Amino acid sequence: MSKKTVADSTQAVHAGTNGEHPHHTLAPIIAQTATYTFENTNELERYMRGEDPDPEREEYGRYGNPTVRELEQRVAGLEQAEDAVAFASGMAALTTGILSLVKAGEHIVLFRDCYRRTRQFITTMLTRFGVEHSVVPSGDLAALEREIRPNTRLVISELPTNPYLYCVDLGKLTALVRSKGRIRVLVDSTFATPCNLRPLELGADLVVHSATKYLAGHNDVLGGVAVGPAHIVSLLRDMRGVLGSVLDPHAAFLCIRGLKTLGLRVERQNQSALAVARALEKHPKVERVWYPLLESHPSFEFASQAMRGGGGVVSFAVKGGRAAASQVVDGCKIAKIAPSLGGVETLIEQPAIMSFFELSDEELAKIEISPALIRLSVGIEETADVLADVLNALG
Ligand code: PLP
Repeated sequence: MSKKTVADSTQAVHAGTNGEHPHHTLAPIIAQTATYTFENTNELERYMRGEDPDPEREEYGRYGNPTVRELEQRVAGLEQAEDAVAFASGMAALTTGILSLVKAGEHIVLFRDCYRRTRQFITTMLTRFGVEHSVVPSGDLAALEREIRPNTRLVISELPTNPYLYCVDLGKLTALVRSKGRIRVLVDSTFATPCNLRPLELGADLVVHSATKYLAGHNDVLGGVAVGPAHIVSLLRDMRGVLGSVLDPHAAFLCIRGLKTLGLRVERQNQSALAVARALEKHPKVERVWYPLLESHPSFEFASQAMRGGGGVVSFAVKGGRAAASQVVDGCKIAKIAPSLGGVETLIEQPAIMSFFELSDEELAKIEISPALIRLSVGIEETADVLADVLNALG
């Protein structure tokens, strides 16, 4: 497995684009339009027959937009994929991806540690439409194998997972799944970014990103992208045209602008998060730290071999339970309390009080969320400052 699964800073600026825009602008044009015109009926009919000389010509805003298309091509370039399709949010990309790949009577296997809304969509909403599921412990390939049924069509994993940062051995997972039949693998690679891992190289069929996080990177826009082979991406594009979860062109512009600094940002976030994780691991008030590049993390072997960096998120549990964790969160000055990650600002949250507020401690235990857990998303501030902020708060 090569460590060259990397999109470097140069690729982040240029991948997937020839730099050509109308009026010779360097920055992309924001094509703020809901629809597109045709000169006459002949031109329209030629377009409808698929014979328009411009293969990127659009008809209506729900089916496509040139600014959104540039984002799609850039992300496809970074993931070295055939194509990509953008959405109004990461959840729109995920739900449209899942709906495109399964139908009633089929079965999905999902790893337990994942974004709460993804699990909710599969375990509560999809069941209403006759799609079955199994949830298996994160990274447990033996459990995955046991759950595969004749009607299994999709395996879904985040990589790394939210919030415990498990990194399943994707090469082994895809080999196992291939040996079992016509099952596709969807990887939510939001936490990795194409800088740290390119899941398609390890056999994934579809990669999804919440562009809200690292890709856009500035905590100022929501977006999502799904990336993969053209024949799969076109299924999602058709579904998007019906469901209507399109990305606004101005939001696409912001995502493109953010994408250009992805390489620089992720490099800094990788470094800072590793430094914070190592310091926290030695801290007497910290119960446990989860970061894929710590030897103590169950995914260390795969992460250290296959990933360029561990990403900007560090999860840790403090001694003293829920109240002690809240004190640490409240004690931070640089890290702001907010429920997102991957952006330039360092953000901190206590999942028991943020994403899982209404759950009792018993219910939290069932999904293995400790009330004392803190999720820190390290931004691009100076490493020493972020570290000092967290250590001061712990003190
Ligand atoms: N996937 C992961 C791993 C996430 O953490 C999130 C949000 O936190 C999402 C998807 C959903 O993304 P969005 O908020 O852009 O819909």
